[in-house]
Amino acid sequence: MFLLFNGERHNPLSQSRNVIGFCSTCGSDLESLAYYSTDSEWLVSAQCAKGHLALIRYGRDWSWLDDLPLEFLKEEVKVADLPREKLDAIFTPAEIRDMIACQEGSPYVRQNIYRARTKYERFEKLFGIKIDI
Ligand SMILES: [Zn+2]
Repeated sequence: MFLLFNGERHNPLSQSRNVIGFCSTCGSDLESLAYYSTDSEWLVSAQCAKGHLALIRYGRDWSWLDDLPLEFLKEEVKVADLPREKLDAIFTPAEIRDMIACQEGSPYVRQNIYRARTKYERFEKLFGIKIDI
């Protein structure tokens, strides 16, 4: 699971489970899900026993900064893994090729990604899959 924070994508450094405090909603133990690092701070996603999610920001020295809601966490949808017939229903072959190339870090035509982006909402409505490239 990667984290989108301030428009940047972060991969987890560690997914070790530790009790890191108390849930601000219900007060039960909060357990870490994943640790992320940005230039200036640490981010830790966490979940309590009752399923409340939180994202906790720490300074570089692990001083607590604040708790954020965990809506920033998204599961990455790999276009290459999606059924081709679903993609074909919405996107052109060139758009599909370049969405996959973009996710894999290969060269792609930017214009095709822009065009594909205008169709993400329709794709999500039809298939319940949210693409974010
Ligand atoms: Zn809770």
